[in-house]
Amino acid sequence: MNLVFLGPPGAGKGTQAKRVAEAKQLVHLATGDLLRAAIKDATPLGLEAKGYMDRGSLVPDELVLRIVDATLAALPVSQGVLFDGFPRTVAQAEGLAAMLAARGRKIDRVVFFDIHDAHLIRRATGRRTCAVCGRPYHLEFQPPRVAGRCDVDGGELVQRSDDSAETMTRRIGAYQGDTAKLLPYYESRGLLARIDAAAQIDDVARALAGLVRGGDG
Ligand code: AMP
Repeated sequence: MNLVFLGPPGAGKGTQAKRVAEAKQLVHLATGDLLRAAIKDATPLGLEAKGYMDRGSLVPDELVLRIVDATLAALPVSQGVLFDGFPRTVAQAEGLAAMLAARGRKIDRVVFFDIHDAHLIRRATGRRTCAVCGRPYHLEFQPPRVAGRCDVDGGELVQRSDDSAETMTRRIGAYQGDTAKLLPYYESRGLLARIDAAAQIDDVARALAGLVRGGDG
């Protein structure tokens, strides 16, 4: 099974993707995570991507497609993948379709995380991540038991530099300008399913479980 999670920044895609990937034994392929890892490792690709990410702009399609292709090349075809935050443009969607077809794969379902813009900045600015294990938290909606510390390993909870209100506004603009075009793109291919991403985390998880249950076979 190959799934795509599509939606604006702050919609909760990453939180839900971690759960679904674990439950369905899918590889969680989040281009944002891959790009942040490339920046941390100071690879040429990471250095090129950094300026775009700091500004809240989309990284050029060619760079993103290269990093996804390299990741897919390392996986057996039988290994299902959950694409999180990718594709974000029609060119990326076309690149993905070609990459999958070349490997005898296809997308089974695209889940649209539907949420009103008004919620997004509040969601993103409260977001924190464990510096050790990457587990996501939210100061308001999913607080840790001890302030500033991960429940699992006690690691420090850090904030992403692009989760500021100012950068979020630009990221939402990029979503509306480019990524929202993928809704009619996937709808016309009969792949799009919608969930109410403004609901509570556990309710969204239940809705998702119902949606992806059919895709096992
Ligand atoms: P995310 O972690 O998905 O919120 O992504 C963080 C940032 O990484 C975005 O604001 C973009 O600058 C960049 N990025 C991640 N995925 C993509 C993508 N598929 N296409 C272009 N830029 C991306």
